[in-house]
Amino acid sequence: MAIERTFSILKPDATERNLTGAINALIEKAGLRIVAQKRIRMTREQAETFYGVHKARPFFGELVDFMTSGPVVVQVLEGEGAVLKYRDVMGATDPSKAADGTIRKLHAKSIGENSVHGSDAAETAAIEIAQFFSGNEIVG
Ligand code: GDP
Repeated sequence: MAIERTFSILKPDATERNLTGAINALIEKAGLRIVAQKRIRMTREQAETFYGVHKARPFFGELVDFMTSGPVVVQVLEGEGAVLKYRDVMGATDPSKAADGTIRKLHAKSIGENSVHGSDAAETAAIEIAQFFSGNEIVG
C-alpha cells in the first residue's frame, strides 16, 4: 500500500482536557507519523469553510460554535494507507458506537464533541491540508 497523507484535527474538547499527548500516542502507536502540527484558534470563517459540506445539516451551527470554542491542534499524518488507517484509529463518529481502543471510544464526550477529525478520502485530505498548512511546514 502507498504512503499517503491525511489531515487531522484534535478538537476543542480534547485540548481542553489536555489530551494532545495521549491522542498523539495512539496515532503514533498505529504507525502514523505526525509530519506537521500546530495549535491554533479556528476563526468562524475557517470552520464554516472547513465544514462547508455540512452546511445544510441541523447541527451545522452547533458544530461551528464548538470548533471555534477553544484551541485545536491541526496535523498532517503520514503512513501506509494513512486515510483509512486514521479513520480506524479514530473510531465511529458517535463514541457509543466506536470500537474498543479507538480514540473516540477512549476520549470522546459525545457525537458532536468527539475529540478528533480525520479526512474521509485522499482527495479531501489534500484540500484540507492546503487549508491549514503551506508546503514548507510539512516535513516528512
Ligand atoms: P466524521 O467524519 O466521523 O467526523 O463525521 P461527519 O463527517 O459525519 O460529521 C462531521 C462532524 O460533525 C462530526 O465529527 C461531529 O463533530 C459533528 N456531528 C456529526 N453528527 C452530529 C450530530 O448529530 N450532532 C452534532 N452536534 N454534531 C454532529
